[in-house]
Amino acid sequence: MLDFDLTEEHRILEQTVREWGARAVAPKIHDLDREHRFDRNYLTQMAEMGLLGCSVPQEYGGAGMDYISLGLVSEELEYLDTSLRVIMSVHAGLNCLTLLTWGTEDQKKRYLVPQAQGKKIATYGLTEPAAGSDVRGIQTTAIKRGDRYFMTGEKMWISLADVADNFLVFAWTDVEKKKQKDPSGIGAFIIERAFKGFSSGTLKEKWGILAGNTGFFKMDEVEVPESNLVGGPGEGFKIAMFALDQGRYTVAAGATGLIRACRDASVKYAKERKTFGVEIAQHQLVKEMIAQMESDYQASRLLWMRAGFLKNSGRRNTRETGLAKWFSTVASERAAGDCVQVHGANGYSDEYPAGRFYRNCKGAVIYEGTREIHKVMQADYVLGYRQDKPTRCELPAHKA
Ligand SMILES: Cc1cc2nc3c(=O)[nH]c(=O)nc-3n(C[C@H](O)[C@H](O)[C@H](O)COP(=O)(O)OP(=O)(O)OC[C@H]3O[C@@H](n4cnc5c(N)ncnc54)[C@H](O)[C@@H]3O)c2cc1C
Repeated sequence: MLDFDLTEEHRILEQTVREWGARAVAPKIHDLDREHRFDRNYLTQMAEMGLLGCSVPQEYGGAGMDYISLGLVSEELEYLDTSLRVIMSVHAGLNCLTLLTWGTEDQKKRYLVPQAQGKKIATYGLTEPAAGSDVRGIQTTAIKRGDRYFMTGEKMWISLADVADNFLVFAWTDVEKKKQKDPSGIGAFIIERAFKGFSSGTLKEKWGILAGNTGFFKMDEVEVPESNLVGGPGEGFKIAMFALDQGRYTVAAGATGLIRACRDASVKYAKERKTFGVEIAQHQLVKEMIAQMESDYQASRLLWMRAGFLKNSGRRNTRETGLAKWFSTVASERAAGDCVQVHGANGYSDEYPAGRFYRNCKGAVIYEGTREIHKVMQADYVLGYRQDKPTRCELPAHKA
């Protein structure tokens, strides 16, 4: 059965986030962005609305909503500002859904439940100063001595690095495999901020997502109990990729929201501003930009919803999620550029949101797989060079 309609629950959720955003976020976001300030109150309010554990089943402290709901929340949040959607990506997508799928019952009790309830905030640490796209180039090691791992290394460009309590961290557990860059030597670990030897900081030079927190963390012989290893000792690479399937989904839906924000701001301005005696909306070349935003918005929405539909039914969606992420983030860059253009010189000023959209959109063309990595992936699927192999654990289908 093919059905493009949202359910009543979806519509209520969308409306709830929209109304909250109009009341609590929209009046403040310009100042937060200008002052490079992350407002922790938003975490509390998002937790109260059940957003932080959105698609986590109720038995693990979540709201038990389906994966389309996670997409809708991401889209609505990025309509307001990218910094809010990033919280969903790292906390709800990359971290919580990974623990739900790969975590032991003990890990779910100790970490997933408080995270889904919003009592603890979580993020994902894969990137390092010398390794982003090339995951096998990470240098962090976790060496086992007795029943503990000792982790040393540095993670860079980490969203919520200075905010999160818990971190899903990837490190080599096998130094011989590290030399050969054999990914079966990588493990995934849960690290708490409170662990001895852990320190973090915020990146001050960032020029986009200024109301969000992005930073680094260092681990100096951090002692990690064996019970915090997620999956098997050699499953870290697979887990990192699995997590990206969930994070990319929220990025795709978020970028869709950003395109909609660009479209709405452009429509408003194009009907206010006059040149040559008419609203600029009357000029065909302005219409062209707005038409492009509309088609990019609709196409992006269909793509992330298809990925969400596959997630709901428990089917593998790496390919579809990657396509949605690639298409919508590239389209959001186009929409934000045109949004500035529609606003003319005013688009070049912080008095209007177009400049913030333009600065914010670029990050998503880089993180969770750059534009180039996704392009190559999609080509490889079509060419038959790439196929998704079944993994030991798959995201659980949504149970209504
Ligand atoms: C705002 C922000 C937030 C982030 N949050 C997180 C986070 O929470 N957790 C985390 O782990 N990471 C995070 N990242 C890091 C992000 O995932 C990496 O920046 C990304 O994976 C790219 O890695 P890189 O920056 O090292 O670029 P590189 O991998 O060095 O790439 C540089 C350029 O080379 C191109 N390139 C590289 N390899 C290939 C190839 N094989 N074929 C074609 N082109 C190629 C890339 O597309 C890019 O254009 C964040 C980044 C940003 C900007």
